Amino acid sequence: MSHRTHIRNADWAVVWDEETHRHVYRNDCDVVFEGSKLIHVGNAWKGQADTAIDGRGRMIMPGFVNIHSHSRSGPIGKGIMEELATPTFWGSGLYDAKAAFWKGSAVEGDNATPVASSRLTYRELLLSGVTTVLDLSAPYESWLDIAEESGLRVVLGPWYASADWSTRNGHEVEYIWDHQAGRKHFDTAIRVIEKANAHPSGRLSGILAPDTLDTTSEDLLRDTLALGAERHWPLTIHCAESMVEFHEFTRRTGHTPVGYAKKMGVLRPGTILGHCIFLDTHSWPHWHTRDDLRSIAESKTAVAHCPTAFARGGVTMESLPDYLAAGVTVGIGTDTFPHNMIEEMRLALILARVASEDFNRMPTGEIFHLATAGGADALGRSDIGRLAVGAKADLVSVDLSDPNMRPLRDPLKSLIHCAADRAVRDVWIDGRQVVFDGKVPQIDLDAVAQASEVLEAAQRAAEATIPRVDWAKRDARALAPLSLATRR
Ligand SMILES: [Zn+2]
Repeated sequence: MSHRTHIRNADWAVVWDEETHRHVYRNDCDVVFEGSKLIHVGNAWKGQADTAIDGRGRMIMPGFVNIHSHSRSGPIGKGIMEELATPTFWGSGLYDAKAAFWKGSAVEGDNATPVASSRLTYRELLLSGVTTVLDLSAPYESWLDIAEESGLRVVLGPWYASADWSTRNGHEVEYIWDHQAGRKHFDTAIRVIEKANAHPSGRLSGILAPDTLDTTSEDLLRDTLALGAERHWPLTIHCAESMVEFHEFTRRTGHTPVGYAKKMGVLRPGTILGHCIFLDTHSWPHWHTRDDLRSIAESKTAVAHCPTAFARGGVTMESLPDYLAAGVTVGIGTDTFPHNMIEEMRLALILARVASEDFNRMPTGEIFHLATAGGADALGRSDIGRLAVGAKADLVSVDLSDPNMRPLRDPLKSLIHCAADRAVRDVWIDGRQVVFDGKVPQIDLDAVAQASEVLEAAQRAAEATIPRVDWAKRDARALAPLSLATRR
């Protein structure tokens, strides 16, 4: 018989109500799991257990499902990317400064830097209560091993693209097409997905991940869609993430990015569109149609909403409540950094109220739903993102005595609006404990210190390459000045 764990008498629990497809609170709740599955959620459990845990002073909740993050490329930009929004690209730094930095930070054949970056990312995700993450990264040698080591449930999205962005003047984006490289990386991606799906841990899986809609050739996109349909593989792609991309598609095709995605057959169940901000209803493009939101909703396509990286550049979705009212499945992702899921939820919630000019349309329970069941729905999984009998034992124990949680009247409000990861104590994934009293033993402090050193050295090396790849030959300090002037 598998190991059975009994969490007894949790003061609060967030449990799943199948009838309403919603979470509800329960007090004095027992949660029992055997092996990787929940076998009891509710009143006092009378059966035997191998491990008994006192739930008093705790809230037990489902782990978060993060459906868009970049473990390999995100953290290295810390200290640089926060203020690199380029005004001539409508606040997006993707094409100019970021491209200059990223080109230098991706070193062919380098395994140590991505290992360090993923380790730090996975640890940060675990500490904020994430139990499933969709990780979009250029594949590297040890990726599956590092994903497995973390204990997380990881959906690996190995990147490929047929083009690279470039600019020679800081106001015009050029597409440097290399169809052969796109095909080569597509083949690599297929192998990574197959390996992930067959991984003995059962916690890894793969998803087709052509990088962005505008850098994937029509041919490669068609083949990707055909392969996805044939093998029943899900798909995710960055779409409608910038004004540059919006104009590129109206110029190339006469359609909005979402309109083009619809025409190509990208919009379908099993597809997750990354970001999906610049729809025809957004106020910036001022476009003449009003079709995008309906197209996404009717096709049962999901959207990964990652507010932080965009809000840093002055960009936001207009608006999350409108997407939900249209019937779109939305999940939350942490994208670049920080990978603090609860802070991401807080910003998503606040920006939704600001952008919709109506604070009643985004209550706290709704954002919690999106970060759990919403992400699970986007991934087509009814066995995660909820505490229900038969679901995976992916759960989080929150310390209600943490001062940031007090006064304790409504624990989810305390957690999301105040405490965030500071009150997350224990996390189980697949029934296995992976966070112990705020510590992650499988990525211990020595590993963290070592990874931080590697990442810092890699950042210095990438900074040194900036003058060679930047269109204006700027150095790192000119491109991304420090927050304050320095004095001797
Ligand atoms: Zn992204």
